[in-house]
Amino acid sequence: MGKLYVVGIGPGGLDYMTLKAVKAIEESEVIVGYTKYIEFINPLIKDKAVVSTGMRGEVERCKQALELAKDKVVSIVSTGDAGIYGMAGLILEMREDEEVEVIPGVTASSAAASIVGAPLMHDNCNISLSDLMTPYDLIKKRVSLAAEGDFIISLYNPKSHGRPLYLKECMDIIRNHRQGNTPVAVVKNALRDGEKSTIFTLETFDDSEVDMFSIVIIGNSKSYIKDGQFITPRGYQV
Ligand code: SAH
Repeated sequence: MGKLYVVGIGPGGLDYMTLKAVKAIEESEVIVGYTKYIEFINPLIKDKAVVSTGMRGEVERCKQALELAKDKVVSIVSTGDAGIYGMAGLILEMREDEEVEVIPGVTASSAAASIVGAPLMHDNCNISLSDLMTPYDLIKKRVSLAAEGDFIISLYNPKSHGRPLYLKECMDIIRNHRQGNTPVAVVKNALRDGEKSTIFTLETFDDSEVDMFSIVIIGNSKSYIKDGQFITPRGYQV
C-alpha cells in the first residue's frame, strides 16, 4: 500500500519543521521536490531515493509523486506551508485514488513576522505578485482592495528579474490608502541561512534588496514601530 505525504517543511531551518513533517520524511521511501528545497532537509534524507526537479516542473513533479505513491510511501515537499502557494492544491487536483495526507508547516509570513516583531496580530492577507498563473490586473485589484480593507498585507514572490516594477507599482497602490509612516518589513531568507531583515516605512521603503527569497509585510493603519519592532496592536488597553 502506497501513500503520499504533501509536506510543508517550514521556512528552511530544520528547527522550524513540525515533528509530524519530520516523521513523514523519515517514514518515506522516496522524497520528491524542487532541488533547492531538498537541500534544506538533507540531514533527514540519508539514503532515501530522491526525485528532484527544477523550478517550473510542478505538474510533472506531482505526476511522478502520485505515480510512485501507488505502491510506495512518498513525501513531496514544499517550503513553508504546503497548502500556501505550495504543492497541496495541485496534488489534490490531480489525485485519482492514491492516499494523500497534507502536513502543514510554518509559512513565510509567520516566519518573517517572528523576526521583525508582531506585525500580523490583526486581520491579514497574503498576495503573491507572481503573474505566471494570475493576470497582473487581478493582482493589482487584490492589492488595492486589501489596502482599502485595512488588511495587513504579506507580499509573496514580491520581485523577480522578469517583473522588476510590480512591487513598486503595488506599493504605490497601497500608498493611496495608508499613511507614510506605516511600517513595512522586508525579510529575506527568514529562519534559514542568509537571513536579513529591514524595517522601513511606506515613505522610506526601498526595494533594491528585495528578491524572490524575500517577503514584504505592510502594516495596517494601526501598526507602528517600537524599539525597532514592527507591531500591529490587537486592540488591548495597555
Ligand atoms: N509555500 C511557501 C510559499 C511559496 S511561494 C510558504 O508557505 O512559505 C515562494 C515565496 O515565498 C518566495 O518568493 C518568498 O516571497 C516567500 N518565502 C518562502 N520562504 C521564505 C523565507 N524563508 N523567507 C522569506 N520569504 C520566503
